[in-house]
Amino acid sequence: MGTKRIVIVGGGAGGLALASKLGRKLGLKSKADILLIDRSPIHIWKPKLHEVAVGAIDQSIEGLLYRDHGLKNGYRYQRGSLEALDPDAKTIQLSALYNERQELLMGPRTIEYDYLVLALGGVSNSFNTPGAESHCIFLDNLQNAEQFHRQLLDGLMLLDETQSRLSIGIVGAGATGVELAAELHHVVESVREFGYQNISKQHLDIHLIEAAPKILPQLPDRVSGRAQAVLDKIGIHLHLGVQVKEVTKEGFTTQDGNLIRADIRVWAAGVKGPNVFSDLSKLPITPRNQVEVDACMRVKGHTDIYALGDCAQLILADGKPVPPRAQAASQMAETLYHNILNRLAGQAEAPFEYRDYGSLVSLSRFSAVGNLMGNLRRGDFFIEGHVARFMYLSLYHRHLSSLFGWFSALVYRLAQKLLRWQRPKLKLH
Ligand SMILES: Cc1cc2nc3c(=O)[nH]c(=O)nc-3n(C[C@H](O)[C@H](O)[C@H](O)COP(=O)(O)OP(=O)(O)OC[C@H]3O[C@@H](n4cnc5c(N)ncnc54)[C@H](O)[C@@H]3O)c2cc1C
Repeated sequence: MGTKRIVIVGGGAGGLALASKLGRKLGLKSKADILLIDRSPIHIWKPKLHEVAVGAIDQSIEGLLYRDHGLKNGYRYQRGSLEALDPDAKTIQLSALYNERQELLMGPRTIEYDYLVLALGGVSNSFNTPGAESHCIFLDNLQNAEQFHRQLLDGLMLLDETQSRLSIGIVGAGATGVELAAELHHVVESVREFGYQNISKQHLDIHLIEAAPKILPQLPDRVSGRAQAVLDKIGIHLHLGVQVKEVTKEGFTTQDGNLIRADIRVWAAGVKGPNVFSDLSKLPITPRNQVEVDACMRVKGHTDIYALGDCAQLILADGKPVPPRAQAASQMAETLYHNILNRLAGQAEAPFEYRDYGSLVSLSRFSAVGNLMGNLRRGDFFIEGHVARFMYLSLYHRHLSSLFGWFSALVYRLAQKLLRWQRPKLKLH
């Protein structure tokens, strides 16, 4: 039996952690061929995308190059976008690659696998709201974050020149919307230090629109109540229990006929599986475009294909699906890592057990809030301020540890901090 080819599509919170661990364990010793495919050459941990969008972090410093990382961690990297899958032939097809001028770089490619892992993440769900796709930015990937960043810089430049007002509307007050609103407020508060002398926070209107009656609807009342108090204090306009009926270039028309004006419009509501899944007719795809997997993360009916993270629907023993969160993707990667090693050794695979450690929301420099769960005490308990900030950052550190190992992750963080200390705190170009 030759070397097994393990192909992982999607190098995000789950896929990259899995590729790194398998690469170090098997790839570096040539015990298996680990191939990671991602449509982007750079990895940014998705929970940091809103920080890229506002310029609080610079992807050229925080971004990780798959090719370089793969070389050191025992996996191969290929840039490409999944467009088709043939489970009978055990092949996937990657779409043709074009450069910025839409010139063909590479035609479609076919890749063979022995085991395939789908880790493509999810995208925001516009629920077919008219105008949402054409008039909103979706914070789903690095390109989206950069697009938002460019619009924000144009808006700030205009504000500085004309002292008019800039209005930003965000649909969805889940973690993404709330964190983005707080971060935006902080950025506008700080830009005077960077030469935008005529801008003050009074020039900015941030609207956060949520269909549920509270912000952070998935989180306990105490966490959302405290986060709401912080947003109220810094002057974010909250529109709760409000449904968006249509989006135009003027702003958001609500179900009751009001127009919430917004120069920059962001859609950060709902999560569904990647659009390409609707073309994978041989796989069991749910109405929310996720692929159904069994307890061991095998795609139902296909023992050689696995899926993890936001693109997978795994129903737990209590009947609830695993939530689309970074901690879930990372735990799934850990279980799948052991299962793949077991499978290669001819041993049984273990079912995935989700451990909810709680949720943390960063409110930029203003605060951080969350609830922790687990062994520390029965049930969950509320945390805030420095403790919550520390726990929030430790989530990122855990992700880095799976990519580099614990010690190298620490060195990497320190190096990043030093680089950031030397450079401007905001990326305004
Ligand atoms: C702004 C923001 C803030 C968030 N904050 C938090 C938080 O604080 N805590 C938390 O737990 N969760 C948070 N989340 C959710 C969390 O980021 C996701 O649940 C998590 O990243 C899912 O991991 P994943 O591995 O499934 O997919 P992702 O991390 O999304 O990675 C998917 C990868 O697949 C690649 N890909 C996609 N389509 C293709 C294709 N066709 N071909 C090839 N490659 C493809 C993408 O480029 C990407 O690298 C946040 C999300 C956002 C957007």
